[in-house]
Amino acid sequence: MAYVFDLKQVCGGYAYFSTFTLGNISEDDRFEIREPSQVDADRFLRALEELGQKAVFIESEGDYRRWLYLHGWSIVEPRFARAHMPQWLKQHKCITSSLRSYTDIEIASKGVLKRSYRGKAKREIHDRDGGACLVCNANDALTLQHVWPFSAGGETSSRNMVTLCEKCNQEYADEISPELYRMAGLHHGYEPSLIKDAPDRKAAMHRAAYLSANLMHTRCDLW
Ligand SMILES: [Zn+2]
Repeated sequence: MAYVFDLKQVCGGYAYFSTFTLGNISEDDRFEIREPSQVDADRFLRALEELGQKAVFIESEGDYRRWLYLHGWSIVEPRFARAHMPQWLKQHKCITSSLRSYTDIEIASKGVLKRSYRGKAKREIHDRDGGACLVCNANDALTLQHVWPFSAGGETSSRNMVTLCEKCNQEYADEISPELYRMAGLHHGYEPSLIKDAPDRKAAMHRAAYLSANLMHTRCDLW
């Protein structure tokens, strides 16, 4: 077994990374609390190959330091991780995006944590959706609906919000309805960035969907 991390950026004394988290620990109101989970290293490596990605193994401080320069995926021996990388293994409160992955609220912008969306941003979503309810095509009493419900930790952003009339809004209230993403022409279900030069695109999309639904984006102190 091993921990896995995808190091994206080292900046301002922080390491920004994604990690695999299996199942939530508990619900804190609308936020899910997630923490890194161990995976079967061989199976995870095969999954990454299917996505066209590579990983480095970390078993020593030399490996760790090299990886901080290289970035990308690493597969970390658990004893090493606990002894030398404890800050990478912490729990974080997360929100959910249309891509199904979890984002630590500490690195989410303030806007996506608020409930309402107003002014220019609201008009832009109405324009994208053709100025009409996506379901019944009504063009008055228009509202914005979170597709992944706000109460379930869904983010407030154009990629998670669609135009519905008041009546349809009430029918979809607090239901998770991915078809609304399709109706609005939004990408959803997995993170496209997970797929690099995948040999089999269909298998890769399936893998990416599974991985996205268990992926947490967060950061930790580097030193
Ligand atoms: Zn409607």
